[in-house]
Amino acid sequence: MNANSLPSPDILIAGAGIIGLSLALELHFRGAQVTVLERSTALQHASTAAAGMLAVDDPHNPPALLPLSQLSRSLYPAFLQRIESLSGLAVPFQTDTTIQYMPDGSTQRLVEHSLDPRQLAPALLEAVRATSIDLREHTELLSITETHQSLLRVESNGELSPAKLIHTQGAWARLQVRPVKGQMLRVQLPATLPLREVHRTEHIYIVPRTQGPQAGTALIGATLEDAGFDTALHPESLDHLRSLAAQLLPSLADEATAPQVEAWAGLRPATTDSLPILDAHTPCQFLAIGHFRNGILLAPATAAVMADLIEGKSPAIDLAPFAASRLVNR
Ligand SMILES: Cc1cc2nc3c(=O)[nH]c(=O)nc-3n(C[C@H](O)[C@H](O)[C@H](O)COP(=O)(O)OP(=O)(O)OC[C@H]3O[C@@H](n4cnc5c(N)ncnc54)[C@H](O)[C@@H]3O)c2cc1C
Repeated sequence: MNANSLPSPDILIAGAGIIGLSLALELHFRGAQVTVLERSTALQHASTAAAGMLAVDDPHNPPALLPLSQLSRSLYPAFLQRIESLSGLAVPFQTDTTIQYMPDGSTQRLVEHSLDPRQLAPALLEAVRATSIDLREHTELLSITETHQSLLRVESNGELSPAKLIHTQGAWARLQVRPVKGQMLRVQLPATLPLREVHRTEHIYIVPRTQGPQAGTALIGATLEDAGFDTALHPESLDHLRSLAAQLLPSLADEATAPQVEAWAGLRPATTDSLPILDAHTPCQFLAIGHFRNGILLAPATAAVMADLIEGKSPAIDLAPFAASRLVNR
């Protein structure tokens, strides 16, 4: 309790997607007392709608993303190891190779992993629950007051006075971030197509599941739509995705040979330059938002650099490309 007798954790994180929970774990292991507020249920939004590609070398990523992507790739084994040792749940890589189809018709074979976000989510959640992190679901961040003396007062179900607040509300952050809808479908792979690698163009990807309950199926994704917070599915969009996929792997064209198992839509948190915002917002508020198409990939690096920023340490990479100020007046 502080002078106002309000509960006062060291760190309050708003939003329990993969970004918020990865950061919560990192700060917990650096010794902070962490509370996480989640408006609905943890890891039920973009972080479980994702395909799970760790697309470090996707030629269509913004070039400025590469150092953060490479840092995340290097941190991923330890990230998954930490989650497994806390939760007892192993999250395997589903694929180790991506065939990237270039606009000139050539192909590149990339050494790149993917994982199943629906395996990662329960493991990450169990890991968080195995610590003293105070995760409060169905608890929305409603309003924030920050005084000139850098005192924070946060309203949710009751009031809190954290030393620091980190915004990780994904597409709902309302701070220079907009939702970009992605529809996706999962199909049963035909026996003649035992797919082991991701196939990807600029407009379509096919991501096989090779391990776990979804083995033998593949995701076909995803649309990129400015549709506000709408997450409705449209059969014609799914048909279009399937026809693009069939241009790469013709046996996916047909509902008879590759029947649809399920379909869904999620909301990517996007900025105008497709780079995340990893920055201080005020003396005691921080932003870790706007991970757009790569939030699963970027979670471990985001946790590491944000924890450094919050602790006043120098992050392992230059964060200038991710400064909030770059987006002002754009
Ligand atoms: C179709 C699709 C495919 C994708 N494929 C990939 C991929 O292959 N690889 C990859 O790396 N990334 C992929 N992504 C992107 C990735 O899913 C996102 O970048 C990432 O999940 C963003 O995580 P987040 O934690 O910021 O957001 P979210 O997971 O959306 O979490 C934000 C959370 O904040 C909560 N919240 C909002 N407002 C409040 C509030 N006021 N108070 C409390 N809580 C609040 C929400 O309820 C939500 O739980 C894909 C995304 C989509 C939609």
